[in-house]
Amino acid sequence: RERELAFEAALAAAPQLKARLSANENPWGPSAKAKEALIKSVDTSFLYAGPVVMELRKMIAQQAGVSEEHILLGAGSSELLSASVMMAAPKGKILMADPCYISSRDDKSDSSGMQLDKVALTKDYQYDLNAMAPRVSSQTSLVYICNPNNPTGVMLPAEQLRSFCESMSPKAPVLVDEAYIDYAPNPKTDSMVDCIRKGQNVIVLRTMSKLHAFAGLRVGYAIAQPAMIKELRKYCSGGFSISTPSAAAALASLADTEFQNFALQKTNESKKFLYDFLKQADYSWLPSSTNFVLFPLRMKSQPFMAKMMEEGVSVRRWEFDNQHWCRVSIGTLDQMKAFAGAFQKVVS
Ligand code: PLP
Repeated sequence: RERELAFEAALAAAPQLKARLSANENPWGPSAKAKEALIKSVDTSFLYAGPVVMELRKMIAQQAGVSEEHILLGAGSSELLSASVMMAAPKGKILMADPCYISSRDDKSDSSGMQLDKVALTKDYQYDLNAMAPRVSSQTSLVYICNPNNPTGVMLPAEQLRSFCESMSPKAPVLVDEAYIDYAPNPKTDSMVDCIRKGQNVIVLRTMSKLHAFAGLRVGYAIAQPAMIKELRKYCSGGFSISTPSAAAALASLADTEFQNFALQKTNESKKFLYDFLKQADYSWLPSSTNFVLFPLRMKSQPFMAKMMEEGVSVRRWEFDNQHWCRVSIGTLDQMKAFAGAFQKVVS
């Protein structure tokens, strides 16, 4: 979190940012219908959000094909991820891939005493489920899988993950962070929500920060067995942290499939531009099922990121597998052109 805050402070201080491509946000949203609902609900926002949040929970349950008791809402999925970690940390080790969204946390320096059991990705930067499976033991209190993964953007084939969930979930809860599932080829069948419908001890985390463009509005949710929802509820506000306008906007956005298709199509257009640019510059990249792309750099990532920032383009950097990497979010076509221009200048 400290690293995040330091990065945000650097961003705020950066002069004339042309393209913010560092936080995997959706530059096309929120949808017009969500904005309309947001504005309309301001008049009633002196009331606590109870009824509208309950309506949102009902809609999410219907869309996921589960009961409302299977749903826990949060102000973004971060709140629910924290709740899961707080629940699991005192009970044992948290198994995860390295790198993944939460693997940059350093267990040794963590005052909560959290123990992280990290398993490296395979040579082609895929989850190594064969290496992870034997690590699930009575000492494991949570298995964290981010699919598609952040920072790689790579996705596990749904059938592989499904059979992993089926065999591992009787031993430890399996949390599948599906922050980017809306960008997957078949979000409905690629999601592990059916494992929950089959009664397995799986927690699926979803966020509206990405395709729905709600990063600043803050709406996310967990889907899990009702007993697990009750347990997680002890470590978070249970939806009380969502404001009336955000909940009203979420209801409108979840119903607005036209906007979702539009945002997806725009993302794919910009992603194709980026792939074409990288190809022409003779750079490789990891195949992305998300709204960001990770690719190997030929210089150190720290000066690369700093120089890109000087050019008005923010990106994120990673170092793993003896390689320096750039993670660039998918922005509008103009933002991707700004990235391409800055990149050419910085690497030449
Ligand atoms: N999970 C993953 C994999 C993410 O990349 C992010 C944010 O980028 C989150 C969870 C948290 O998102 P939010 O709290 O906005 O829902």
